[in-house]
Formats: sequence, structure tokens, C-alpha cells
Amino acid sequence: MWNIAVDDQCIFCHSRESRDHVFFECSFSTTVLKKLLVYLKEYHAPQSWCMEVEWIMAKGMGKSFSSRLRRLCFIVAIYHIWLVRNAAIF
Ligand SMILES: [Zn+2]
Repeated sequence: MWNIAVDDQCIFCHSRESRDHVFFECSFSTTVLKKLLVYLKEYHAPQSWCMEVEWIMAKGMGKSFSSRLRRLCFIVAIYHIWLVRNAAIF
């Protein structure tokens, strides 16, 4: 459409890049997410995008401090993985 060549290699591990890969399958992202989950005392292994969205919607439901913290940490982690990826590319 725009005739732009796009490199589909993951900047961290050189696998084929996709949404699921960047955020939940790449060794870089899973290391970040696993450390965050340990910090939050959540014994949960990161899975696909859809599974993680379902998980955070279930665990982050409500207005309690821990629910808000889980939602905030999830959003911040995803955002920062995206920032690090973009900083490495651009
Ligand atoms: Zn990767």
C-alpha cells in the first residue's frame, strides 16, 4: 500500500516479530514480566496477548489498592517494553 519495507525481525532475539511475540513471547519481555510478577507475588506465567488481557481483567478488577497496582504495573510494563523496542529500532 505505502510501499515501505518493514523489517519483521524482533530487535531483541531476531525471531519473527508480532504483537504476541514482542510483549509475551520474546525472552526480553518474558524476563521483564516474570520479574514484575514475582515482585507482585503473582505466580503466573506470561502467555499470549489474549490470555494476558483476560488475566489482568480478572485479577485487576475492582478498586482495591492491589487491583489498581496490578493494572498499573501491567500497563506500565507493556508501555515500557514498547518504548525499549522502539528506542532500539529508531
Ligand atoms: Zn524477541
